[in-house]
Amino acid sequence: MTAPLDVLVVGAGPTGLALAAQLRTYGTTFRIIDRSLDRAHESRALAIQPRTLEALAPFGVTDELVARGNPAMQLRMHLPHRVVQMQLFDIGLADTAYPFLLFLSQAETESVLAEHLRGQGVGVERGTELHRLERTGSTVTCRLRHSDGTEEAVEAMYVVGCDGAHSAVRAQAGIGFKGYAYPQTFLLADLEVDGLEPGAVHAYMTGAGMLFFFPLGSPATWRMLAMRTQGAPDTEVDLGLLQEITDRYTSNRLVLHDSVWMTDFRLHNRGAVHYRSGPFFLAGDAAHIHSPAGAQGMNTGIQDALNLGWKLALVCRGRAPEELLETYEAERAPVGGSVLRFTDRAFTIGTSSNPVVRFARTRLAPRLAPLALRATGPRGRVFRTVSELGIHYRRSPASASGSRPPGRGPRAGDRLPDLPRGLQARTAGPGWHLLLAGPPHLWPDGRLAPVLAGRADVLTVHRLGEQSPWPGVAHGLVRPDGYLGYVARGAGADALSIYLDRWLRRV
Ligand SMILES: Cc1cc2nc3c(=O)[nH]c(=O)nc-3n(C[C@H](O)[C@H](O)[C@H](O)COP(=O)(O)OP(=O)(O)OC[C@H]3O[C@@H](n4cnc5c(N)ncnc54)[C@H](O)[C@@H]3O)c2cc1C
Repeated sequence: MTAPLDVLVVGAGPTGLALAAQLRTYGTTFRIIDRSLDRAHESRALAIQPRTLEALAPFGVTDELVARGNPAMQLRMHLPHRVVQMQLFDIGLADTAYPFLLFLSQAETESVLAEHLRGQGVGVERGTELHRLERTGSTVTCRLRHSDGTEEAVEAMYVVGCDGAHSAVRAQAGIGFKGYAYPQTFLLADLEVDGLEPGAVHAYMTGAGMLFFFPLGSPATWRMLAMRTQGAPDTEVDLGLLQEITDRYTSNRLVLHDSVWMTDFRLHNRGAVHYRSGPFFLAGDAAHIHSPAGAQGMNTGIQDALNLGWKLALVCRGRAPEELLETYEAERAPVGGSVLRFTDRAFTIGTSSNPVVRFARTRLAPRLAPLALRATGPRGRVFRTVSELGIHYRRSPASASGSRPPGRGPRAGDRLPDLPRGLQARTAGPGWHLLLAGPPHLWPDGRLAPVLAGRADVLTVHRLGEQSPWPGVAHGLVRPDGYLGYVARGAGADALSIYLDRWLRRV
């Protein structure tokens, strides 16, 4: 009898591909399946947030994503009689190497991730559909159906549903998906536009709604997004219809042509009631779907995956307690919940026909936004939220501080900032990282030896000297996903030892 797989990854969209990349790093035994015979070639999600670029950097794919993408720095809001110009992402982001929103089609993002996996010897098993899950003792029997009609039963310890909005894993695990559909229909097209200034995001705001053009680059120069006029018949989407809508919003003549993809779709706002049920986990669209406002969907999915992968890997290797897996829902469900609320608010402001909201959209927002964004504080907060750099796990059971937390600098549960620059690259290797700040004589090998014993393969020590995110003498533990699990002031190792005894078992 063959040993059960550690993990079956169901779905090879961006979430499943990112999860597979992380599992591969730790030598976890897994398979990644997808029911479709080919990967999707439509652009779909069009932007990668700074935090996602950081989180993918350890796999060596971020440079390639940046090389293929288009970092947009400018937003132009077109009002009936003027254009308001705003800078995107150029303030309060000194602690990241990627202070920009990267426009890149989801098809390209998936292709970069799939190429990385191929280079690591991991192939996506296409034409393979999960259709049933049965719990059998300590494992799960996964019933798969191949495109040639044959069936296969696979044993796995854990199953992760990265299988999108209609997740079979979610259904099989009996997890509810609560929320609602928005009444509006949206039109989307990747195409060429004559008359638009290149390299910027263009938003046309009127009482009727909003029209956007995003600088996509490939497979076409522009992504157009608009709301179908309320009450208008659901006619087929074609260039004539898109031109008619554009003409209604714009005073200068924009000419649309050479569309490579046109579609219409309804939006939902739904979240999984749980992100875990026993051996079953949900990540990405299987756990949350919402409007594309703020470009959060794919990014949140990739970051779900990178929160979960190392936890599964270390538990399967016997190096972390089962309890660590409970922190997945504790950490990611609040993130998913806040994305659902944030995108719902942005969607309502952008589409509502309520006279007060219309007034706010067309008159107040264009006046107030540039003023508010000129102030460093609010601007930094807005960009930190949208860029997902502000995500933290401070309330997680796996975040702890010593008896004296450092007075300044990042706290337990925060992402490790890339400040001084290069700190993230230094801690990008697999496993945990112990950061020691302060003069070297405070950290004699003799004091560290008992902490490191039996852990050296998954815990790397860095003596930072001047290269520390904290002033003075302090130490901290960076988790494999780049978040600080533990921080403390001083050079005492007792509380550090207690933290590690709980979360990182010795060989
Ligand atoms: C028209 C459109 C426009 C969009 N625009 C944006 C945007 O502008 N910005 C944004 O952030 N997001 C956008 N999105 C959403 C974005 O595409 C998703 O958030 C993203 O794809 C989620 O990735 P995922 O890997 O979680 O799921 P998916 O990409 O849905 O991948 C799920 C995979 O699972 C496979 N699968 C499903 N069931 C099974 C099964 N039973 N067995 C095996 N395999 C299975 C599917 O074939 C699929 O490949 C858009 C989506 C659409 C459709």
